[in-house]
Amino acid sequence: MTVSGLPPYDDNNIFARILRKEIPCKPVYEDEWALAFHDIAPQAPVHVLVIPKGKYCSFADFSDAASAEEIAGFVRAVGTVARMLGLEAPGYRLLANMGNDGGQEVPHLHVHLFGGRSLGRMIPDRA
Ligand code: 5GP
Repeated sequence: MTVSGLPPYDDNNIFARILRKEIPCKPVYEDEWALAFHDIAPQAPVHVLVIPKGKYCSFADFSDAASAEEIAGFVRAVGTVARMLGLEAPGYRLLANMGNDGGQEVPHLHVHLFGGRSLGRMIPDRA
């Protein structure tokens, strides 16, 4: 188990395969610490995923095990992508799903960056 209680990192998850260039993606930005690419099933006019290059499942895992450089590099990459996409002025939303209750499908830490329209309420229902 990782610190987050999730199973160990799965080297064959889709984002690990994208990082290894085994699966194509539509890249938006890449540096030493992070890769950003368009979501395959966009839920807003702009829907980009930003992932750290290291093998982390969750935010707890990342914040516990990543180096300060990795953390800074990833956070900077998210901001850089938002600026590059021209989203600072109109605004945008960052979302990170974690584990079962969070609805996380891909077990490699990622931030969704949504924009391009008014995004409505943060959580649509309270089931
Ligand atoms: P999660 O639910 O884990 O937060 O989000 C995973 C996201 O990854 C989903 O929005 C899904 O559309 C996206 N996704 C899944 N497989 C692929 C893929 O092969 N390529 C890309 N670009 N996105 C993917």
